[in-house]
Amino acid sequence: MTEHHARKRFGQNFLSDPNIIRKIVDAIRPAAGDTIVEIGPGLAAMTDPLVERLGHMHVVEIDRDLIARLKERYSPERLTIHEGDALKFDFGSLGAPLRVVGNLPYNISTPLLFHLATFAESVSDMTFMLQKEVVMRMVAEPGTEEYGRLSVMLQYRFRMGRLFDVPPGAFRPAPKVTSSIVRMVPLPPDQLGAQDEELLGRIVTAAFGQRRKTLRNTLRDFIDEQDFATLGLDPGLRGERLSVADYVNIANHVSRKGAPA
Ligand code: SAM
Repeated sequence: MTEHHARKRFGQNFLSDPNIIRKIVDAIRPAAGDTIVEIGPGLAAMTDPLVERLGHMHVVEIDRDLIARLKERYSPERLTIHEGDALKFDFGSLGAPLRVVGNLPYNISTPLLFHLATFAESVSDMTFMLQKEVVMRMVAEPGTEEYGRLSVMLQYRFRMGRLFDVPPGAFRPAPKVTSSIVRMVPLPPDQLGAQDEELLGRIVTAAFGQRRKTLRNTLRDFIDEQDFATLGLDPGLRGERLSVADYVNIANHVSRKGAPA
């Protein structure tokens, strides 16, 4: 088969280090009977050992050349190929509990994580490789430079852990940056706590929209000095000082008062 030239626009860096591939597959711990979907199988570096252990799995791939290769390589009994954009894919259609894995295309990682978060109720766990810098933001704690909208909105919904780093040399072509493996496990729905999640999202977006401004400024459309006092929060702080629970409390307080349009 002819060589596949990596396409930048699809964020293609293919894993080529067999030890790293084994380490990632071991971290996923695939078991017969699991329903697993891999986002962006590419040249099947992870797909091969996963199908080997599972017997059957799903993949979502956008690149037609790679899809043609996958069709030649696997029978439909072993691999169900969903052709198209993972950002638009209905992960809920694969049934629950679903396990999601992938060495994600880095150029769409943030919107893809937000899209995946909407299927949290059908998912049992997700194991991804992402740019280390993005993983550090996902797992960041309040008060750190990396802590922001991505941290709050994902930690609201998932328990997350960074498992290990992967150096650029493990890929062809080598990316410029180090990658990390992250595991995400959805929290039980009764632990989430926000009465209006869309409102929580708007408040968090506002709080981190202008990082240097204080909450008094960034949240002025939602709460006033009296509300800060009721909530026991200092309006002179910046958004990065508040915990996920603080944001949920603010959102629920605003819900009770009647949210602004
Ligand atoms: N899993 C392979 C590996 O580890 O070697 C390839 C990983 S490569 C970083 C990302 C893969 O995601 C490529 O196969 C690329 O074509 C695919 N991809 C990029 N954008 C996508 C999208 N929007 N939807 C589905 N797949 C996409």
